[in-house]
Amino acid sequence: MSNMLFDALMDQHAGSARDCLILGDGTRISYDEIYRLSGRLANLLLAEGVSPGDRVAVQAEKSPQALALYLAAIRAGAVFLPLNTAYTPAEIAYFVEDSEPALVVCDPAREARRAEFRPQGKLLTLGADGTGSLMDAAAAYRDDHAPVARSGGDLAAILYTSGTTGRSKGAMLSHDNLLSNARTLVDAWRFSADDVLLHALPIFHTHGLFVASNVLMLAGGAMIWLPKFDAAQVVGLLPQASSMMGVPTFYTRLLDRDDFTRDLAAGIRLFTSGSAPLLAETHREFEARTGHRILERYGMTETNMSTSNPYEGERRAGTVGFPLPGVDLRIMGEDGVELPQGEIGMIEVRGSNVFQGYWRMPEKTAEELGADGWFKTGDLGLIDADGYVTIVGRGKDLIISGGFNIYPKEVELLIDEMPGVLESAVIGVPHPDFGEGVVAIVARGRGTEPDPQAIIGGLADRLAKFKQPKKVIVVDELPRNAMGKVQKAELRARHEGLFAG
Ligand code: AMP
Repeated sequence: MSNMLFDALMDQHAGSARDCLILGDGTRISYDEIYRLSGRLANLLLAEGVSPGDRVAVQAEKSPQALALYLAAIRAGAVFLPLNTAYTPAEIAYFVEDSEPALVVCDPAREARRAEFRPQGKLLTLGADGTGSLMDAAAAYRDDHAPVARSGGDLAAILYTSGTTGRSKGAMLSHDNLLSNARTLVDAWRFSADDVLLHALPIFHTHGLFVASNVLMLAGGAMIWLPKFDAAQVVGLLPQASSMMGVPTFYTRLLDRDDFTRDLAAGIRLFTSGSAPLLAETHREFEARTGHRILERYGMTETNMSTSNPYEGERRAGTVGFPLPGVDLRIMGEDGVELPQGEIGMIEVRGSNVFQGYWRMPEKTAEELGADGWFKTGDLGLIDADGYVTIVGRGKDLIISGGFNIYPKEVELLIDEMPGVLESAVIGVPHPDFGEGVVAIVARGRGTEPDPQAIIGGLADRLAKFKQPKKVIVVDELPRNAMGKVQKAELRARHEGLFAG
């Protein structure tokens, strides 16, 4: 019997002295060490009463031990459930109640507040330095462990979506969902055992855990394993890497530094970006500085990766490329009929990358994941004449003013080109006449001051009146979450009273 995901990611590396992780201080950890640590931890999980299919909820800082714990959960046939390290005990209480994990692992600093999140099962700790009661207990166990049999349809992980509205939903991902997507990406992006990936993403999210870590382990490459993105540290380590996966903020922060030069990126074969839109301007600036065209791709927790710009061929700024092999993608109108090329509508995807549904939410699942396998992503987009997909925003960010639809991105792209503007977020807030009024929140560029009146004036001839912002608000920076996504819900809440009275 085999364990589909564990066998592919790790079993092939048993006994291998090759580097799996390279830490910021230069410490190297071999594949065999991670393999054996995952065995020790898997034995501990079984001894703690974790049965196949049980959830193991983990809120831990990124460390080699945290990666081994993910692998151990898969190896033991459990369902790995990582939680954002920023969640408060009150937020954790919801996830614990909803998912009923057999075991919760948290930071030692959080243990004192366990009463707030009431784990029904056992609670162990794992700190940023890789110590804690989890590792103390694991020391008593053997490091060999026969992986628990799991097949393609069995669950490997539940990841709660960031959920800007309503309750956060647990996306159930199977062994086949994760492995098929990792295989597709290894091929599409040409990963091999020779790769060294600079890994500065968090591992509680699909990007850092599945896109980055699964792909590198499947390929047998090494990861420079950094607890977080620190631009100065990344500049120092880039010459040791062959590739980097990032969110757009990684790239803007690198470009902000004078010591980020062409030479530093000379040994890199691939930079990828995703999780939030990469500004076309960042794409161009990055190419001008380094000679590299960032490969932008698109995916989400529920679907893994769905599209990618080509490895060979034109990587087109402002687009997310083509559907990946094995992924079907279509653009649907409000009436549920597929739209022709060039028209904006809801993006739907289908394929072995698409998740199994939302944990204990059959109705939500039925609303978004059709019996025919098509999943409504909630993203609006279009396919151009050459087949490139462009995301124009989240469906829920669509603004309806005076009965007309406004796609924020169309307005943002024009504002972003204006003097003094670093970037912008266009939102709709309640308006007594129009239902919603268009508002532009504009982040000033370094040492510049955009002029709200000039921005409004500059759009007058370029956009229909109903699309023009009624108000422009200048700020130092746009609010973003850990994955670099602009928090539009937060902006809407902040400015909801703007047109009141
Ligand atoms: P998450 O589930 O946290 O990975 O968030 C997924 C969402 O991030 C998608 O539904 C998109 O709205 C957004 N997203 C991911 N990649 C891109 C991209 N390359 N361009 C624009 N939006 C993206």
